[in-house]
Amino acid sequence: MKKYETTDPKQTQALAKKMADLAEAGLVITLNGDLGAGKTTFTKGFAEALGIEDRVKSPTFNILNTYESGRIPLYHFDAYRLEEAGAADQGFEDYLGTDGVTLIEWPQFMKDLLPNDRLVMTFERTGKGDNDRVISVTGLGRFEALEGKLPE
Ligand code: ADP
Ligand code: MG
Repeated sequence: MKKYETTDPKQTQALAKKMADLAEAGLVITLNGDLGAGKTTFTKGFAEALGIEDRVKSPTFNILNTYESGRIPLYHFDAYRLEEAGAADQGFEDYLGTDGVTLIEWPQFMKDLLPNDRLVMTFERTGKGDNDRVISVTGLGRFEALEGKLPE
């Protein structure tokens, strides 16, 4: 596991850029953390680093937003509203581990669909300043190697 402390949103987005620069098609990243922890902020930095110019906003109301204008496609899930419905049989599998990179907020609501090979991230407030976050990254399966390439 790699751990980072950021003290403002721009630092979180700088971490996102480092990860986006290493991202290849098929990468799935789960973003765990409470409301306001920084998951969407991270995703915005990631999208920008892929060269996506569209404004990224949280896909809470349609679960999935896709962005095709960057180096590789970006699939951005916010599974929060799946809580009751569940994620099965909605065709989401097509967006996991295929031709793009997939970022998933609230991954606990699509557990059954998550591939074993993925990067698991957690975003936490530290209890210190309002803008302080601790962010961890763990590579699972074939993405262990990607974790190894991230800065210490
Ligand atoms: P989530 O998607 O996890 O609900 P958002 O990214 O939408 O969270 O919101 C995070 C909020 O916290 C934003 O308003 C952002 O500007 C702010 N923020 C403050 N400090 C940080 C930080 N270090 N990293 C990320 N976001 C931060
Ligand atoms: Mg969000």
